[in-house]
Amino acid sequence: MNISTIAVVGAGQMGSGIAQVAAQAGFKVLLHDVSDSLIARGLENIENGLQRLQRKEKISSEEGASTRARVYPTAEFSDLAAADFVIEAASENEDLKIELFRRLNEICRSEVVLASNTSSISITRLGSRSGRPDKVIGMHFMNPPQVMTLVEIVRGLATGTDAYETVRELSERMGKVTMVAEDSPGFIVNRVLLPMINEAVYCVYEGVGSVEDVDRAMKLGSNQPMGPLALADLIGLDTCLAIMEVMKDVLGDDKYRPCPLLKKYVDAGYLGCKSGRGFYRYKDA
Ligand code: NAD
Repeated sequence: MNISTIAVVGAGQMGSGIAQVAAQAGFKVLLHDVSDSLIARGLENIENGLQRLQRKEKISSEEGASTRARVYPTAEFSDLAAADFVIEAASENEDLKIELFRRLNEICRSEVVLASNTSSISITRLGSRSGRPDKVIGMHFMNPPQVMTLVEIVRGLATGTDAYETVRELSERMGKVTMVAEDSPGFIVNRVLLPMINEAVYCVYEGVGSVEDVDRAMKLGSNQPMGPLALADLIGLDTCLAIMEVMKDVLGDDKYRPCPLLKKYVDAGYLGCKSGRGFYRYKDA
């Protein structure tokens, strides 16, 4: 594997976290989003992350500075042509991702692997629509990527062994532990996690318990580090809804029906931590 430059497409909470992890592992990172202001927000997340590590004395100020210097922000899609490997972490929307993979295929060298951080969307479909199906693969980091050690690797039907080996090796260089999931909606982690979160939302919707009590019940009653509704806020309620919709559409089982209250929150723009308000309030929202 000869990879020195990694492009990260999407500078949201996952993209910025992945960019930080890759830069800390010594890679040059091209961080791309659709506008300078969105990229600036991603850089701010990275800055906060590095400052936190420095305060905890997990990295020195020199390491912080060299990590920062390895991140190259760009709003120019064509700049991504310089990448040796791409991680797509744009919003969870299939049409958007298909278009991104089609455009990445046009500009990236033919040997470059294009990985998606998607939580639920078919890698096989992204691959077949990209024009390089053997080089398209799922590389599913957990939230926050700077902290969580797992990377769920998802092979599409046509994904080649070389692409798989590249992602496994790269994940290890970033200090991650990998496992493999079949290309099925939600893969393993979200197939199990999201129905639980959705059920927690139903509990609030149906008046079974308050937001606080549902979370307290699951934290203390099933030993989870955080309650499912706080976790939904961390993931992003729009992302939770998108994952449930993919599972409902593709698996066709009513048990994946997103709770109407989840839809209502997303309609209201209550997207969780990233928008300042979800099941809980953050900042001054
Ligand atoms: P987010 O809303 O924080 O960020 C998404 C970013 O993608 C935004 O900054 C947006 O401007 C950008 N974007 C949209 N269209 C784009 C385009 N055409 N080109 C470049 N950038 C574009 O969302 P997120 O939580 O970071 O999720 C990103 C991806 O990671 C999704 O596929 C999601 O399912 C997946 N994921 C999320 C979590 C989580 O807990 N939030 C965990 C694992 C995986």
